[in-house]
Amino acid sequence: MSVRQKYRLRAPSSGRELIVEAEPGRDYVDRETGDQLEVVGKLLPLAPSPSELPWAVENLRFCTWCDQLAQKDLNDCPHCGRRMAPLDRS
Ligand SMILES: [Zn+2]
Repeated sequence: MSVRQKYRLRAPSSGRELIVEAEPGRDYVDRETGDQLEVVGKLLPLAPSPSELPWAVENLRFCTWCDQLAQKDLNDCPHCGRRMAPLDRS
């Protein structure tokens, strides 16, 4: 179960970006440059989520029960909680 929210952070001087599981209220510093990193984005899925997959079209499918989008690596629909049909891998 992934409960930490992943963030995209950027070092202002180098423009280098990295993705970390950041905690709110903490400051993050680039290990190489010593720059204070600024948050440029929050990555989906939003914590807490049992899925490790990014919320992208190729990772999603429609729940067979409620027709809502769910990540493909989940067995149970996050919306209605019902077990979804096995993935068609053909
Ligand atoms: Zn559902």
